[in-house]
Amino acid sequence: MKALVYTQPNEVQLLDRPEPQLEPGEVVLEIEAVGICGSDMHAYHGHDPRRKPGLILGHEFCGKIVQSAAPGFSVGQRVTGNPLITCGTCDYCVQGRDNLCSHRTMVGMTRPGAFAQKMSIPAASLVDIPQDMPALHAALTEPAATALHAINLSMRAMTRPLPENRTLILGGGAIGMLAALLLKSYGCRHTVLAEVNPLRRASAQTHAQVSTYDPRETQPEENGFDYVIDAVGSKITREAALRAIKPGGVVMHIGLQDWASEIDMRKLTLAEITLMGTYTYSTADLRATVALLRDGVFGDLSWVSSMSLADGPRAFSELDSGALASSKVVLVP
Ligand SMILES: [Zn+2]
Ligand SMILES: [Zn+2]
Repeated sequence: MKALVYTQPNEVQLLDRPEPQLEPGEVVLEIEAVGICGSDMHAYHGHDPRRKPGLILGHEFCGKIVQSAAPGFSVGQRVTGNPLITCGTCDYCVQGRDNLCSHRTMVGMTRPGAFAQKMSIPAASLVDIPQDMPALHAALTEPAATALHAINLSMRAMTRPLPENRTLILGGGAIGMLAALLLKSYGCRHTVLAEVNPLRRASAQTHAQVSTYDPRETQPEENGFDYVIDAVGSKITREAALRAIKPGGVVMHIGLQDWASEIDMRKLTLAEITLMGTYTYSTADLRATVALLRDGVFGDLSWVSSMSLADGPRAFSELDSGALASSKVVLVP
């Protein structure tokens, strides 16, 4: 089969790879669509020690079952899935916080990913989709669930209902964009998004009706926002988030571009700021997200672009150079 293989830093190549073998309790999927994630870009840059050259990346997939060794999953069924392979029995798994599973592994990291014509995955990771859902929409389940999980966690720390918050989103990548779309559907009318790429700013204005600014030219209003989502996660954005947040506000840290930072602990303490981290999604979040995508809660998703798997090397380099207006590229094998 053809697969897009991460061969060395800043290079992915379309190569022939052996087809995945069917193992007990697993299925083999024919991949219909697979999104390029920020974490795939991070690996592509050689910045992820867990993802080594020779690996097939990709974990935001939609596919059709072509072989099944798992009861309840039949050939021909279309599915998406949880790329985190979890144990189902540790304390976190039984609490429904399976994203924190003590024994988790991941497709596109510890086993071959979905930038390929076929991929195997344990059936326990599969998530049902409406059988007529477009593959491109189903492939967005994983990043959309990341935004959903983060916003759900944030709401636990808010004093006032979400729509009453004045919100700042730092970063107009796919997660920032999906968060903006979800906030819009929840009735939030005061959302500002910071993004350096003018194409992405325009896309966020058009599709999520947020106001935007270029953080290289403008600083967010100090103490101006009840809720800040850092969808970049760099030293600079963390400083901006802590500056922009109002006393009593909530800062949600989603991205993780770098992690060394001094935090303004004086403001955090004296102003009762809640600073939270979030990692991925639970299986329950993925199921909820499929329903939201089906209901059009994330809009028509026309800002997502699709390319063939063979064009994968070009997709990576264009995402890297910022040449694309779209913050999400979905590859179609
Ligand atoms: Zn992802
Ligand atoms: Zn577990």
